[in-house]
Amino acid sequence: MRKKQKIMLARILISAAMLIGLHFVPAEGWLKLALYMVPYLVIGYDILIKAFKGVRNRQVFDESFLMAVATVGAVALALYEKSGDYTEAIAVMLFYQVGEWFQSYAVGKSRRNISALMDIRPDYANIERDGRLEQVDPDEVEPGSLIVVQPGERVPIDGVVVEGASTLNTSALTGESLPRDVKKGGEIISGCINMTGVLKIRTTKEFGESTVSKILDLVENASSRKSRSEDFISKFARVYTPAVCAAALALALLPPAVRLLLGLPAGWHVWIYRALTFLVISCPCALVISIPLSFFAGIGGASRAGVLVKGSNYLEALSKTGVVVFDKTGTLTRGVFEVNAVHHSGMEDEKLIEYAALAESASSHPISRSLRRAYKKEPDRSRVRDVKEFSGNGVTALVDGVSVAVGNDRLMERLGIPYISCHSAGTIIHIGLNGEYAGHIVISDVVKPHSAEAVKALKGAGVRKTVMLTGDRKQVADQVAAKLGIDEACSELLPAGKVEKVEELIRAAKGNEKLAFVGDGINDAPVLGRADIGIAMGAMGSDAAIEAADVVLMDDDPLKIVKAIRISRKCLRIVYENIVFAIGVKLICLVLGALGAANMWLAIFADVGVMILAVLNAIRALFVKKL
Ligand code: ADP
Ligand code: MG
Repeated sequence: MRKKQKIMLARILISAAMLIGLHFVPAEGWLKLALYMVPYLVIGYDILIKAFKGVRNRQVFDESFLMAVATVGAVALALYEKSGDYTEAIAVMLFYQVGEWFQSYAVGKSRRNISALMDIRPDYANIERDGRLEQVDPDEVEPGSLIVVQPGERVPIDGVVVEGASTLNTSALTGESLPRDVKKGGEIISGCINMTGVLKIRTTKEFGESTVSKILDLVENASSRKSRSEDFISKFARVYTPAVCAAALALALLPPAVRLLLGLPAGWHVWIYRALTFLVISCPCALVISIPLSFFAGIGGASRAGVLVKGSNYLEALSKTGVVVFDKTGTLTRGVFEVNAVHHSGMEDEKLIEYAALAESASSHPISRSLRRAYKKEPDRSRVRDVKEFSGNGVTALVDGVSVAVGNDRLMERLGIPYISCHSAGTIIHIGLNGEYAGHIVISDVVKPHSAEAVKALKGAGVRKTVMLTGDRKQVADQVAAKLGIDEACSELLPAGKVEKVEELIRAAKGNEKLAFVGDGINDAPVLGRADIGIAMGAMGSDAAIEAADVVLMDDDPLKIVKAIRISRKCLRIVYENIVFAIGVKLICLVLGALGAANMWLAIFADVGVMILAVLNAIRALFVKKL
């Protein structure tokens, strides 16, 4: 409990004890009022001050104002009636404060719990100096340093294993409970927990650029992007409170006026009391706190499952996903191409692959990575100059003074190199040397193990249409689409063509359904930005993709898209439940209050009760079923 909460609790207890004690004090008249004012001010002075400040700043219509008017009014009424019954006014203030206290306690606690669940921040890094381990701030470790991670410790910085082998628990990052093995030479990302062996790691990034820091940044900034539902609530409150005040005023004035006209006794105090009750009932606290809390819990639940959602607005959009558009390479397929054949080459196959790998030495495209792997050696970058990459086409470069072109049909046409078409199944990489055709390499990729299941599960989750976009050949695209059960495949697209196609699909969307684009960011970062929801592959994807995306899948598993949609639906369902429940109970109480069937006691209990239930319901959004 924080200090503020402790003080509040003390005020509640003191005021309650005094209120009970005063029942045994036989005071009357002004003395009684003075005595009762003590517990009232102990519990309510801050509310009165806030209400007064609100009036002075002409922003009168908030909860403090409602509570101040209602309780001061009730005291005034008791004075006027000479009933001396001040207990009710004080009790209303007391319970209101109990509600506020619970709210700050519960919200604070659940926020802390949620943050703890997502707590992947490493506190230190171990550096070996003179045979001893020293703990240093991860911020101070330079890229290229050697760090040691012992069993049970969290990997603080991204790097490559240079010594040791171990099993990693990646569940905090990916939500996957299956452990992952690493050994010498393997890449390792920060945030995982080292389980079995001691690892020596050469860091490849600074702490601030490492996976953990990126994730923490994303999560911390997520709640600042407001969703439409949250906007709705703040707009609602702006209209609601004045409306309630006007209604209360009408309730206090109109019926007595009518009675006077009819020649009946006015009964002012009855109607003023009802109007005050009405004000107490109308406090909108449950709504005001439970909705942002639900979104916060939803984002927390998603990140535990390995899905980072960058804002409540995206969570809301995700719940309305009707069309899912996939990039092919790296998203549905593994993006790890194998060389199947080399055709029409006038030289040794190895030599052709060498030219290709060298020309590709600077590209981050999955094809280029695969060619470099097929080359088996580290490309000597000093042999390569003037690299130009044509996205969606290929690359050109000067290798050992020879101008090399590596790419698809389009690249060859563009450079005016006559090429031989190939009918083998697979992606064809043509190679031109000094403007002459030198043959082609046939490479092929395999679909990810969960792709087909993910496409099917999306349909099951109510997604109307799935589309695949690719810059690859039609033959390959159609084959993959058929295998995965994708509704529509568009092939041989340049990056700009992908944007156009997505825009066309957005225009064709039905009702308020949203379009999600899933990609790895290589040649498709613009599309990620253009789609209603851009979903990026976090592990394989480029940094640009993770920046441009609204949702990041930590482990590149397409099945996580379904999970993200389910989480968002559950979260939104909870939000609507809370809205309907809170407004519903309010309306019932308001009607009862206007009819005189509810007193202030009932009103305050209803308010605090609704709030507690709404908060508990909101916390449910944190928990997601396994898929
Ligand atoms: P996808 O949409 O499947 O992710 P891209 O748009 O990234 O594909 O690329 C489309 C096509 O452009 C590839 O299939 C390939 O033929 C060619 N290409 C793109 N980049 C390269 C590269 N670095 N080297 C060779 N070919 C490339
Ligand atoms: Mg791609």
